[in-house]
Amino acid sequence: MEFQFHGAAGEVTGSCHQISVNGKKILLDYGLLQGKRKEAFERNRKSHVPVEEIDAIILSHAHIDHSGNLPSLVRAGYEGPIYATSATVSLCEHMLRDSAFIQEKDVEYVNKKRLRKKQKPFEPLYTREDAEQTLALMKRVDYDDDFDLFEGIKVRFEEAGHILGSASVHLTITEKGKEHIVVFTGDVGRRNQPILKDPTPPRKADFLICESTYGNRLHEADEDVQARLLKIVKETDDAQGKLLIPAFSLGRTQRLVYDLHQLFREGKLPPVPIYVDSPLAVNVTEVYRNHPECYDRELEKFNHENDDAFGFYKLNYTESVEESMALNSLKVSCIIIAASGMCEGGRVLHHLKHVAPHPKNTILLVGFMAEHTLGRRIEEEREILKIYGDEYPLRAKVEQIRGLSGHADRDELVAYLGHLKKPPKKTFLIHGEKEAQEAFAQNLFDFGFPKVEIPVRGQKFKVT
Ligand SMILES: [Zn+2]
Repeated sequence: MEFQFHGAAGEVTGSCHQISVNGKKILLDYGLLQGKRKEAFERNRKSHVPVEEIDAIILSHAHIDHSGNLPSLVRAGYEGPIYATSATVSLCEHMLRDSAFIQEKDVEYVNKKRLRKKQKPFEPLYTREDAEQTLALMKRVDYDDDFDLFEGIKVRFEEAGHILGSASVHLTITEKGKEHIVVFTGDVGRRNQPILKDPTPPRKADFLICESTYGNRLHEADEDVQARLLKIVKETDDAQGKLLIPAFSLGRTQRLVYDLHQLFREGKLPPVPIYVDSPLAVNVTEVYRNHPECYDRELEKFNHENDDAFGFYKLNYTESVEESMALNSLKVSCIIIAASGMCEGGRVLHHLKHVAPHPKNTILLVGFMAEHTLGRRIEEEREILKIYGDEYPLRAKVEQIRGLSGHADRDELVAYLGHLKKPPKKTFLIHGEKEAQEAFAQNLFDFGFPKVEIPVRGQKFKVT
């Protein structure tokens, strides 16, 4: 059996890992590389593996850095199956269509400039038609159900507690009469979080492919999250400013809405209007409403007592561009939740131009900000932000709530892996930046894991 790591190797986007066994090549995830624009443009266009060699794809969850490059593969001729949980497939219907639309629009914008310079136009990375063909290849699989992928290869999805539909992937592989259990964690969520069930920790793994986003960091204690959120909302309201929260339309937005709804129900929230400014978030939230099989007990109870966990009268979902633009001229204090989460595109950029230069406003970061993203620059509180080629001073207050993260922190990851009956023969750390990975590798080594590898992109490992 051989593993090869094509993406999210020493970085946190562009997830793609390959298992070659029994004459089959299986890919785990096929995500978009985000952040480094020029490099992303080139790397996202290049197939990691010749499409005719890929036998099947298994998708851990619908986040675009895990699913977002699948249509490129289909555009290049991939016609095989893509397995995912039912909620993941439902989410991908919106995520991939939206991503394709962005790809088409981006290239249209670039091509206008290129045409003026008499340069050859670029093709979009993929189109909406490619996204539709990708969706047609997706196969819905239940959680906790072993299915035969190929002879001698069984696959099972288990709850990852990261976003709706997220799963860890468990493969039982029989090779030359010997059985190997391979576990790919996908993105690991956190215990005792609202909305989703807790992640199911793996019990057995001979070979483990493990995420390490927060391998060197700890989140704030759970009980602080709503209190911190409330404090920041109140302070911004007192200053008569705007609170801008960059958040991914999938996952973070629903969590924030639910937290704000709870604060509202308890009568604690100041009477500020709240805007979720993302058409994608509207669609994704609808998928959340349609998949109650993924809810934890707390959300079931909340929904029983209230009509809709993801809606209340102070909350407005804005869809049209006009509605979005109108928020800029709003003179009253308000909360705006807008994508993208790392400020790499989307409506949040337009809001940042208006919000960042004024000290009465606050920008609240609630997720991981990868290297080379505008979000990371805000996190570092750089004096100047570059948005669409223009410079804007960052004078707004920058706040952060790490406890809202959808990723397990270092100790939570160790606790999650602590359920393994015995340490894996080999562990591969993926989906993390170098510092986090090195620190986490040491942690796992101290914890008794005999071999922990940090693969570089393209690296292959033969195992027996
Ligand atoms: Zn994710």
